[in-house]
Amino acid sequence: MKNKELQLAAKQFGTPAYIYNASKIESQYHRLTKSFKTVKNLKINYAVKASSNLSILRYINHLGAGIDTVSIQEVLLGIKAGFKPEKIIFTPNGVSITEIKNVSKMGVNINIDNLNMLEQFGSLYPEIPVCIRINPHVMAGGNNKISVGHIDSKFGISIHQIPLLLRIVKNTNIKVNGIHMHTGSDILDIEVFIHASEILFDVASKFEDLEFIDFGSGFKVPYYPGDNETNVEELGVKLSKRFNDFCKEYGKELTLVFEPGKFLVSEAGHFLCSVNSIKQTTSTVFAQVDSGFNHFVRPMMYGSNHHIENISNPNDTERFYSVVGYICETDTFATNRRISKINEGDVLCFKNAGAYCFSMTSNYNSRYKPPEILFINNKFIEIRKRETIEDLTKNQIEINFETFVN
Ligand SMILES: *Cc1c(COP(=O)(O)O)cnc(C)c1O
Repeated sequence: MKNKELQLAAKQFGTPAYIYNASKIESQYHRLTKSFKTVKNLKINYAVKASSNLSILRYINHLGAGIDTVSIQEVLLGIKAGFKPEKIIFTPNGVSITEIKNVSKMGVNINIDNLNMLEQFGSLYPEIPVCIRINPHVMAGGNNKISVGHIDSKFGISIHQIPLLLRIVKNTNIKVNGIHMHTGSDILDIEVFIHASEILFDVASKFEDLEFIDFGSGFKVPYYPGDNETNVEELGVKLSKRFNDFCKEYGKELTLVFEPGKFLVSEAGHFLCSVNSIKQTTSTVFAQVDSGFNHFVRPMMYGSNHHIENISNPNDTERFYSVVGYICETDTFATNRRISKINEGDVLCFKNAGAYCFSMTSNYNSRYKPPEILFINNKFIEIRKRETIEDLTKNQIEINFETFVN
């Protein structure tokens, strides 16, 4: 999006605010499907946890994707946004058997990542097909919190437990319709994908009734100018060929599934905030903005480097700033960042704020969550209002201690 458009949005909706460019979501979706055009049956399931706004979900539904969900609440949001249950897959970790049962009653595909749960579910409902999440034990992912496929990870069923897995499948007579892996976010090296895929093909060959193989996600997107990204085009060429060969050996046209979150929505998002004050200390110039980790936690939680632009004064001399928030705790968005000269009142734009940004917001310091705006067909459409004091108090029950009797 252009600076001028972002400035207009800041004026119209105030700050802080999230602005999403629909056409970027669309182009990313098509970039991925084009990269795998030689695969006959391709399915993209958007990972709802990246951004779960109902209008974003509706837009993604309209593009033709399905969704990947990790909680029954995400399933309910998906259904509310118009997804048919058969276009939803539920990939939970560490949830109760009751939650899995309830989701399966809605007709949603179930992906099981735990042998104990598989045995329980298979004994109860042998007629309901399930997908199995495998842990291929590859070290992948940009950092510890998002690297979920390694040997000590809590995710998936270990490839070393395949004999036990096969025995449970046989004993319960459950039908396995898919094999899945998801080894982490921010995977840069496509050889890691290919290597893990070989492990998955090997597991898949042991099951007779498969309909799909789900390769998860983890596509890396560029966070700042010059940053690198997963080469999905090259991955498409390599993995498509390998997948098509596998289908020939297997004797059936399977569906290739991906479940990207970040890849589809990250670059579409812009987080706008205003500079409340410039504060100079002995060593640092701080730009303090009207937000904090309550609205945008990725820099603090994952150490992620989101590019920052001063959209009010984009072409002035660059200076070094530490960009911090207004939370009464250390809430540093960026240290020692070169940004075009900042004045009080300027609007800063954080790039790549479409994934794991709004969906991780909180009300810490009793601040309101920001609005979400969709930029589509050259228009801004508000898809979530800024909160008000009612949102902070609506579920609270006040006790009147004047009349309190024990
Ligand atoms: C979070 C998650 C994804 C999406 O990961 P991205 O890095 O955002 O693409 C996909 N599949 C599962 C099971 C997940 O938990």
